[in-house]
Amino acid sequence: MSQIKCAFCKGIGKDPFNLLSKLAACQVCGGQGLVAVEEPIVECAFCRGSGIHPHSRLSCSACKGKGSVTHRGAKQECPDCGGAGCKVDGNLPCSACGGKGVVRGRRSS
Ligand SMILES: [Zn+2]
Ligand SMILES: [Zn+2]
Ligand SMILES: [Zn+2]
Repeated sequence: MSQIKCAFCKGIGKDPFNLLSKLAACQVCGGQGLVAVEEPIVECAFCRGSGIHPHSRLSCSACKGKGSVTHRGAKQECPDCGGAGCKVDGNLPCSACGGKGVVRGRRSS
């Protein structure tokens, strides 16, 4: 696991949209400004690493607001979404790659 800056609040630890109150802690990192993501890490394609759902003010459903996701093994662009991480309408993470934009590559051995 590695500690990375919380993408949703940009490491500030406060709710970026002040949905609850100005003093509300970030729901993703709990106010710590850091989140733990298991390595190896790739940037979340669905939210482009922002941690914010592209069509709402909620945390990204693919990376849970962390902005990064774990991807083991060889990387291959997702054939379903072409690396965008979302379905055609953009509201849901791609079901083939889970919003990562990459899938595990074919074993070449
Ligand atoms: Zn946060
Ligand atoms: Zn994301
Ligand atoms: Zn995909």
